[in-house]
Amino acid sequence: MARRALITGITGQDGSYLAEHLVSEGYEVWGLVRGQSNPRVARLPKDIHLVRGDLLDQGSLISAVEKVRPDEVYNLGAISFVPMSWEQAELTAEVTGMGVLRMLEAIRVCSSRGGEIRFYQASSSEMFGQVRETPQTEVTPFHPRSPYGVAKAYGHFLTQNYRESYGMYAVSGILFNHESPRRGAEFVTRKVSLGVARIKLGLATELRLGNLEARRDWGFAGDYVRAMHLMLQAAKPEDYVIGTGRTQSVRELVEAAFSAAGLDWERYVIADQALHRPAEVDLLCADPKKARTQLGWEPTVPFEELIAMMVESDLRLLSEGGDP
Ligand code: GDP
Repeated sequence: MARRALITGITGQDGSYLAEHLVSEGYEVWGLVRGQSNPRVARLPKDIHLVRGDLLDQGSLISAVEKVRPDEVYNLGAISFVPMSWEQAELTAEVTGMGVLRMLEAIRVCSSRGGEIRFYQASSSEMFGQVRETPQTEVTPFHPRSPYGVAKAYGHFLTQNYRESYGMYAVSGILFNHESPRRGAEFVTRKVSLGVARIKLGLATELRLGNLEARRDWGFAGDYVRAMHLMLQAAKPEDYVIGTGRTQSVRELVEAAFSAAGLDWERYVIADQALHRPAEVDLLCADPKKARTQLGWEPTVPFEELIAMMVESDLRLLSEGGDP
C-alpha cells in the first residue's frame, strides 16, 4: 500500500514542491485546507487529496489525522512573512506557534490507537536572529528578532519536547531562506525578480527596497523539500540545519537579478527607510555539514542560477499577462 503523507501549508511554495516530490516517491499525498474559497486550493494538482482542518482548531486536526491515518505529517502551515508578524503578533503565535502544539497533540492522540506517525516541523533560521556564532549549526543558541522567530522557536522546542516526553518520531528542519519562482511576492527575492521583470518590460521605472545590507543564505526550495523527506526516513529522529553554507547581501541579490536581465540596478533601486524592520536579522549563514554527512543531502542550485531562474520565470509570466 502507498505510504500516506499529510501536509499543512500545501498551497504555499514549500507545500507545492513537497507534494510533487512525495507523489514522485509513490506517496498518497493529502493536504490540510481550511476551506474551499482559497483559489490556490483549486489550482492544486488533481492527484492531491484534500482534508478539511485548521491549525487554530484542535478538534479539526484530530479529525483530519484520524481520517487520513498518515505515515508522515509535514507541518509547513504558518504565518510566514516576518513583517506581518509584528502587525498580527497574536495570530502569528496562534498559527505558527500553538499550531505546532495542536498538531503534535492530534498525532499523539491518534497514534496512541496504534501505528507510528512521523512528524516534520518547519523550523526556521529566523530563530537564530541576532546570531551568536557564524555559521549557524544545530546547537547554535537562538535569539529571535521578530514575533515570527519567537513563535518558530516555541514550535521547535515543543517538537523536541514531544520527542523526549513521548518518544515520538518528531523532527525539526532548521531551514534557511529558500526561494523559487513560486515564492510569495512579498519576500525579497521574488519582490526583486518581479521588480526586474516589470522594469525590463516597461511596466515600472523603479524598485523600492528596505535594508540592502542584510545577509541571507538563499537556496532553492526544490532542494530543501528533499531534505524534509530524508529527515523522516532516518533511523533516529534528529534535527538538522538545511542551507547552502554561503551568504549574500540583499545588495548582491539585487545586482545579480538586474544583471540577469542586462540592467544596471543603481538606476532603478531606491532604498526606502520606511521598509526597514523594527528589529532586523543582519546575517544568516548555515553550516549544513550534519545534513550532508548523515542524510547525504546537497543543495544543487547555486545562488546566481537561482536568481536568474526567478527573473526568467517572471519575465515569462508577466509578458504572457500572468498573475504573480
Ligand atoms: P526573511 O529572512 O524570512 O525575513 O525573508 P525576506 O525575504 O522577507 O527578507 C530577507 C531580508 O531582506 C530581510 O533582512 C529584509 O529586511 C531584507 N529586505 C530589504 N528590502 C526588503 C523588501 O523590500 N522586502 C522584504 N521582504 N525584505 C527586504
